[in-house]
Amino acid sequence: MLAKLGLHADWDYLLHLPLRYEDETRITPIAQLAPGVDAQVEGEIVDVEIVRRGRRQLIARLRDASGELLLRYLHFYPSQLKQLAVGRRVRAFGPVRGGALSSDFGFEIVHPRVRPVEHGAPVPSALTPVYPTAAGVPQAWLRMRIARALRDVDIDDTLPGALRERCGLAPLAEALRYLHAPPPGADLTRLADRSHPMWTRIKFDELLAQQLSLRTARLARAQRRSLPLAGDGALTRRLLAALPFTLTQAQQRVWSEIEADLAASVPMHRLVQGDVGSGKTVVAALAAARAIEAGYQTALMAPTEILAEQHFRRIALWLEPLGVRVVWLAGRLKPADKRAAQAHVAGGEAQLVVGTHALIQQKVAFAKLGLAIVDEQHRFGVAQRLALRGAGIDGADAVAPHLLMLSATPIPRTLAMSYYADLDVSVIDEMPPGRRPVVTKLVSTRRRDEVLARIRAEVARGRQAYWVCPLVDENEEADAKLELTAATRMYEQTRALLPELRLGLLHGQLPAQEKAAAMQSFAAGAIDVLVATTVVEVGVDVPNATLMVIEHAQRFGLAQLHQLRGRVGRGAEQSYCVLLFDEPLSETARERLKVIFETDDGFEIARRDLLLRGPGELLGARQAGVPLLRFADLERDTALLESARDAAAELLERAPEAARRHVERWIGRRQAMLDA
Ligand code: ADP
Ligand code: MG
Repeated sequence: MLAKLGLHADWDYLLHLPLRYEDETRITPIAQLAPGVDAQVEGEIVDVEIVRRGRRQLIARLRDASGELLLRYLHFYPSQLKQLAVGRRVRAFGPVRGGALSSDFGFEIVHPRVRPVEHGAPVPSALTPVYPTAAGVPQAWLRMRIARALRDVDIDDTLPGALRERCGLAPLAEALRYLHAPPPGADLTRLADRSHPMWTRIKFDELLAQQLSLRTARLARAQRRSLPLAGDGALTRRLLAALPFTLTQAQQRVWSEIEADLAASVPMHRLVQGDVGSGKTVVAALAAARAIEAGYQTALMAPTEILAEQHFRRIALWLEPLGVRVVWLAGRLKPADKRAAQAHVAGGEAQLVVGTHALIQQKVAFAKLGLAIVDEQHRFGVAQRLALRGAGIDGADAVAPHLLMLSATPIPRTLAMSYYADLDVSVIDEMPPGRRPVVTKLVSTRRRDEVLARIRAEVARGRQAYWVCPLVDENEEADAKLELTAATRMYEQTRALLPELRLGLLHGQLPAQEKAAAMQSFAAGAIDVLVATTVVEVGVDVPNATLMVIEHAQRFGLAQLHQLRGRVGRGAEQSYCVLLFDEPLSETARERLKVIFETDDGFEIARRDLLLRGPGELLGARQAGVPLLRFADLERDTALLESARDAAAELLERAPEAARRHVERWIGRRQAMLDA
């Protein structure tokens, strides 16, 4: 139970801070009680009985010099009966309310905390902390254990005095003692919202620990060796010459940044960020070609098999004519074929290996992996584990592969400074030429007929359409069986509406082979309308599709809507995105649809998303592989984060031993848990 709460050593207890406080420093005369506030009273039990009013309850009457009060228990133990024996002197603490069930008494406390006292016993001199806890760890035990840690531990400050004063921070010992046991009259509001100066010190330390560990990881990476991937440039030149287009300036700039990284003997750790459709794939292909011409293997990973397959087809189309051996690793390969593919990878004949994250990470031994590319990498943890694993295979002074990540999701500045601090970022901030912005329309479900007419018109002109529908409400977990029936029902409905068109169905529960088949016939133009769940969300590229219809659009998140819309507008034709919404719209749904209607800039959308939702949910921060913040709040504490970042650099430089102790204190065991 304690481990679950992260409580192992004394320092874990010291940093286990109260959620709120109870004021037991005062005793209120019963005559002065007011309903709706927590209060402590002291008196003698003058009556106790078990009554049945609907259910069994225990009611005791407490009397002091000024009046009487009821203590009521709807659940109780025999021990409580003993504690409340007539004649006992007790202190009772809890929320006071008007005695609804008894007309003869003014007030009562339901489920008060009661303790026996001697007449005239002193009251506590500090507020009573209420700690976060779990079943099996009694609050009273936690209080005692933490008080002991406060007594026993020599709380040395890891911040040098000068630095602490420059940042205007309280000494650590003072902050901890204050927060665990604030004096009577402390500002409870500022303690509750953690804007109290004593909280500021704690939040600073937490952010500092995070910054220190990220910085240390970065330094450690800089110590590792990797293979400089240079080569003679023949393959990359031929690839560039064979492309049906020339790179945009942004693509060119990002490619040269990658080129420089690859040529270094420190492993690359770079994220390429570019809005949907900005052309990240070709940049990845160039990086792969560079590794290959230098004599090494490249692994290209995508989160889903559909996307991996699409990469495989596209990149194979580019690289195979140039003599590159590309291997496709899919879950649905026949065992014999899979073994053969794995053997080619292990033997080194396969130069480019394409597959899903899961497949490549778990099952494949590379002969000489030089570069790993991870597409649509929202979950940074995967990449980190991969990099770690690269080190693990070859031993401690291993040669680590270069790592290139691609993402369409922009990272807000605060996240970039925290979770993603150990990352170089390149941005493709320009769209390929000739793109016409997608026209977005908001249409009520009541006007669905107009949308059907639009689909028929597009198909008549030889174009294709997506029809996307969410299967479950945004708050529900997707259930496989539910998804299957809903997808099938959706398909039947659409077919009834558009009987003369060729429809395909794509959803998450289809066997991989059928998924690929549906995707392929859509790409080949054999299907007019692809009815799909959000499996098309990420990365699918069919330039002839010019219409995206999103049903129940109000149920999708902003990032999802943006990704979905990005599936069209990939060719030279004018494309449309129709957001079909159901009425009435909730306030937030209306707000979201308004954002997507007003702008098609992924960065602006991410910014507005952050405003609407807060950063916690974004980018699956939980997966980030860095301990989550318990006390600081990235959005509210940005200024504090900035000074912690500067302090981290200074501390590592001037007082590395203190820095080490600081991280140990805050992250030590938690880090080990996360790594496992
Ligand atoms: P994303 O960044 O979303 O992964 P893709 O790499 O799938 O985008 O590229 C989107 C489309 O744009 C593809 O059809 C691709 O071939 C095309 N494309 C990429 N770069 C250029 C360019 N410089 N000029 C013209 N078309 C390009
Ligand atoms: Mg892509």
